[in-house]
Amino acid sequence: MQLNRFDNLLVFSPEYQTDLARFGVMKDFALDRGIRVLQKLEEDFGSPIPYLTPSKIPIADILLVHKKEYLESLKNTDTWLSIFEFKESEYHPEKAEKPLHMILDDFRIKSGGTRLAAENALQFGLTANLGGGYHHAFPDMGRGYCAINDIAIAIRSLKKSRRIDSAMIVDLDFHQGDGTALIFKDDPSVFTLSVHSKEGWPEEKQKSDIDINIPEGEESSYLAKTETAVNQALNCIKPDLVVFVAGSDPYEKDILPGSRFLKLTLDQMKERDRMVIDKFHNLGIPLTIVFAGGYGPDVWEVHYNAVKHLLSKF
Ligand SMILES: [Zn+2]
Repeated sequence: MQLNRFDNLLVFSPEYQTDLARFGVMKDFALDRGIRVLQKLEEDFGSPIPYLTPSKIPIADILLVHKKEYLESLKNTDTWLSIFEFKESEYHPEKAEKPLHMILDDFRIKSGGTRLAAENALQFGLTANLGGGYHHAFPDMGRGYCAINDIAIAIRSLKKSRRIDSAMIVDLDFHQGDGTALIFKDDPSVFTLSVHSKEGWPEEKQKSDIDINIPEGEESSYLAKTETAVNQALNCIKPDLVVFVAGSDPYEKDILPGSRFLKLTLDQMKERDRMVIDKFHNLGIPLTIVFAGGYGPDVWEVHYNAVKHLLSKF
């Protein structure tokens, strides 16, 4: 089967699978979601799925969002230990092949991926970066496994090159998109919407243009509240680009202890992602997906359903 109709839609690199052990970190992270999605799609279609491979996001683009001093601090091991909240027992520099600060290159590749997917969405309508979504990174601080805010960097970079004038971020990760909300707090051209768990980290939330807190046990209202919020956002702005932060950590099979407050079924996750993709696609508004949070062996299925639905439009 010819799958060239999918050319330019998906962005991925084998390098997305950061091998933490090579940096001396002995901690298990689910970093294989992109490859699992591609493997399952290949099974479905009976042929390899084409994808574009990004290059590292330029430092100049990172500086459109982050402070120079912060970028400097990423040369220090301690900064990284705090971003990942690694315990002393998990970090063994004597076993490392590469110094920990070189992990910035991995973030730069995935950020380059978000920039590339966002740019291609303007031409092809719907795209996905099979990774990225570092929405907790602030201009002067990384946290919650997020070193640089690829979402904000991609939007600022496309605005700077005058490819877009406005954007909307639809952030449906379990955790509030707090870094992105803060970065665009005073920027009326970028609308931030976050639907997240009321409980859990980050305790101190930022202010998005629209924030919906879902209390524990209220999964049954999640889809309706999310759709209402998206409609409200569309009443405020018709953006040139949407970045859909499609975290899979609200899924009931996510294993992060902190995400236990929301337990959406696979069907609810599927319906959520279809609703968002269809809504913007039907309006002719370009949309790109980033994966954001998702932990454990089963969460890739959420992303697989979303990407498969995206491809079904072509
Ligand atoms: Zn998350």
